[in-house]
Amino acid sequence: VTTDVVLALDVGASKFAAGLVDARGNVLDRRQSVLARGASVDDLLAQLVGLARRALDTAPEHGATVAGCGIAASGPVTRNLETVSPVNLPVWREVPLRAHVEQALGLQVAGDLDSKALTLGEWWVGSAVGERNFMALVVSTGIGGGLVVDGQLLEGASGNAGHVGHVVVQPDGRECGCGGTGCVEAEASGTAIEAITGRPPAEANAALVARSGRLVGRAVATVMNLLDIAHAVVAGSVALGFGEPFFAAAQGEIDADVHSGGRSRPLIEPSRLGADAPLVGAAAVAWRALGRLDTQM
Ligand SMILES: [Zn+2]
Repeated sequence: VTTDVVLALDVGASKFAAGLVDARGNVLDRRQSVLARGASVDDLLAQLVGLARRALDTAPEHGATVAGCGIAASGPVTRNLETVSPVNLPVWREVPLRAHVEQALGLQVAGDLDSKALTLGEWWVGSAVGERNFMALVVSTGIGGGLVVDGQLLEGASGNAGHVGHVVVQPDGRECGCGGTGCVEAEASGTAIEAITGRPPAEANAALVARSGRLVGRAVATVMNLLDIAHAVVAGSVALGFGEPFFAAAQGEIDADVHSGGRSRPLIEPSRLGADAPLVGAAAVAWRALGRLDTQM
């Protein structure tokens, strides 16, 4: 008896991750590879395919048959990852990622924006199972997000809906890579904290952790007020690394800013999937394409 799994690939701005994930969201194999600095597009694609092959090679030891592949990629992207142009990875511009991986591995490949994939994963087996309205965020190198409204994962005109990173939380604030100022990504992402302190986010002091939490809470509150959403799930190494003080500050800001009109108290909480959230999200994209994703709707 074999178990069907999918190959899950997460293409970030600083590392690649690969895993085998079964139809219930269990991660059977996980591995990652840090992007080589200064590498060409071809080198990086070879690095990704090599990592994917090493994950695939472990399928027999798990008694697993690989049914397909899902990719989650840092944006902006075009639909189904026909092209990928990550802001924080300047060497990649309009890379035909899905087609390249499909050809290299000989598997059926589906793809989506990383933060939308993660939202799908939280909906499938994470902190938002059975919900019809919620948002998910990733607070790591950058800040992204995804939205489920009325039981639908929002796509938007270009397939990049939910990118909360450029919600302005600090008028006249820091300059953002998007050309604006005071975006939450420019104030509270790992990159921003490193720019402010000159040190990794893990070394941020209590005041800066609380400030980051407040500013993320402010962006979340804006979205909650706009879309009538009362639940936010947060993943990403920076937020999860900061932990309770970050979430307490974010919750305090949301309590002050969200006009819930007597409905249930709006809640922000950490992802239950933790560090596996990106791979589970990529797997959700693959299972969705195979018609086997059960989001209990
Ligand atoms: Zn911005």
